[in-house]
Amino acid sequence: MLPAARSALDDLMAGNLRFRTGNPNHRTYALEHLEDLANGQKPIAAVVACMDSRVAPEIVFDQPLGSIFVARVPGNVASDSAKWMLELAVGEMHVPLVMVVGHTGCLAIGQLLDGDKGGPGGALRQEIQFAVFEAKSRNPADLYREAVIQNAKHTVEKLKRDSLAVYQAIENKQCEIVSALYEMKTGEVHLV
Ligand SMILES: [Zn+2]
Repeated sequence: MLPAARSALDDLMAGNLRFRTGNPNHRTYALEHLEDLANGQKPIAAVVACMDSRVAPEIVFDQPLGSIFVARVPGNVASDSAKWMLELAVGEMHVPLVMVVGHTGCLAIGQLLDGDKGGPGGALRQEIQFAVFEAKSRNPADLYREAVIQNAKHTVEKLKRDSLAVYQAIENKQCEIVSALYEMKTGEVHLV
């Protein structure tokens, strides 16, 4: 892994350990600190996560303001807004790490597993359908969990193809993109 990406990943995982062991950093934001932040940012990573109320990346990774870009969309799919975020985060601000985080108990994926009845989201729902098919073909003991994992991986592949900023940064060895799973019951994030 690229050293800068490794370092960013280590920071996120260290933050996740603090979060899930009940030792998050206690932070206050003094006016001078806010003024510093207003003058610029140097985030370490960009995270694509689900909009689920229980999966806020800044909290789960115990990161302060100015540390991570976040795009949140149902089922952490490769939405236009996620791609736009990456154009800014990777293309403009040169973060070395992109992480797509799926999570156990994802409502959006559960809906597709129960049979897609259509609705808002359109083509983005179909992206999850790919993961559902892939998961079913693997015949896992836990289909729901497997679908979440396949979906995070699918989003990574999709972003590598469809985000010019991500594609170029990977080609130029300036960035890496990884898929991860957030275990709702323990708070643990691990790569998948
Ligand atoms: Zn979800």
